[in-house]
Amino acid sequence: MWRETAIRFIENEMVPGDEEARKRGHVGHALWRKAGELGLLCSDIPQEYGGGGGDFRHEAVFYEEMARRSLTGMNSSVHSIVAHYLLNHGTEEQKQRYLPRMARGEIVGAIAMTEPGAGSDLQGVRARAERRGDHYVINGSKTFISNGYLAGLVLVVVKTDPTQKAKGTAILIVETENQPGYQVGRMLDKIGLKAQDTSELFFDNVKVPVDCLLGGEEGKGFYQLMGDLPYERTIIGVTAAAAMEGAYEATLQYTREREAFGQPIAQFQNTKFKLAEIAANVTAARAYVDRCIEDLVAGRLDTVGASMVKMWSSDLQNKVIDECLQLFGGYGYMNEYLIGRMYVDARIQRIYGGTNEIMKEVISRAM
Ligand SMILES: Cc1cc2nc3c(=O)[nH]c(=O)nc-3n(C[C@H](O)[C@H](O)[C@H](O)COP(=O)(O)OP(=O)(O)OC[C@H]3O[C@@H](n4cnc5c(N)ncnc54)[C@H](O)[C@@H]3O)c2cc1C
Repeated sequence: MWRETAIRFIENEMVPGDEEARKRGHVGHALWRKAGELGLLCSDIPQEYGGGGGDFRHEAVFYEEMARRSLTGMNSSVHSIVAHYLLNHGTEEQKQRYLPRMARGEIVGAIAMTEPGAGSDLQGVRARAERRGDHYVINGSKTFISNGYLAGLVLVVVKTDPTQKAKGTAILIVETENQPGYQVGRMLDKIGLKAQDTSELFFDNVKVPVDCLLGGEEGKGFYQLMGDLPYERTIIGVTAAAAMEGAYEATLQYTREREAFGQPIAQFQNTKFKLAEIAANVTAARAYVDRCIEDLVAGRLDTVGASMVKMWSSDLQNKVIDECLQLFGGYGYMNEYLIGRMYVDARIQRIYGGTNEIMKEVISRAM
């Protein structure tokens, strides 16, 4: 029933507006609010904070159904990641203040770690928050921020003490509306994820009260970031598996209909063998990702396990979708075909959430 609710929302509300959203570069606030009304946002946040009271499996269903169709406009996974930072590390007051509004889709969440000079190496963050009395004053810039244009709440990774590395890092909660000194820069022109807003953010003496420090204690930012990585990386695994399934189904259908040399291209031995390989890969990915979902729900998935599923499934996603696209011939290269969009949308999966090279670092360090 939950999956049907997600599919109905996607088919009725997301699909019709997707072309326009791709041109505009964002889906707009109304779609977020509709998703919130249906309970599709923050489905694994406890009901006492306005969430759905479910677990990660409910979240996964919504991600899967969007990824299967390469509908990437609403980055509800970043929204959920932000909600989980608040749930896991926020003070009671912070949870009460923000989570219900996020679940209703009234405010869109974003997390701003990356800077022009610091991506993989987050200890090199330069954005600065200086404490002045009962306020912090933030200065600095962030880039590549998902949901950046629509965000009403941004978790900003800053240095409170630039002489320290991890221990000098903090996360500040910044409400963006009517916030003097806060500026959303360019909506970035990406090769894929066309309907999703990804922006630069600028902070010029942005003043926030001290109770906007996540968890209320300085020096905890890096630890808070590391603690929530399994959640984020599992999401990438989930979307990779579902995108492969969507690509496989579309390719099966296309190769049965398209004819060359007097027969459907599905009849050529090369096509059959390729589809057989793809089917096996898709089946393996589903089994592996489902196990990781189970482990995450049971609290058993650690950072190494989550890095493995992120790396392996996103690499496989790129390989499988590339092979599917080949079977579409020239039509596969056209934006109007799902497979063409899937191809460009897949590429980022190996980069964000920590690059796959960083995943290998994390995995190998634990050996
Ligand atoms: C569409 C999109 C959405 C994003 N959304 C967000 C967001 O919402 N919030 C946010 O904070 N960030 C976001 N990012 C940023 C993303 O997480 C970073 O781009 C990513 O972590 C890599 O950082 P970088 O781009 O600075 O690359 P760099 O760190 O400069 O890396 C460049 C290359 O060097 C390699 N490399 C770096 N260090 C090592 C090492 N130790 N060993 C081996 N190889 C290494 C990398 O793997 C990569 O191949 C997003 C990026 C994109 C493109």
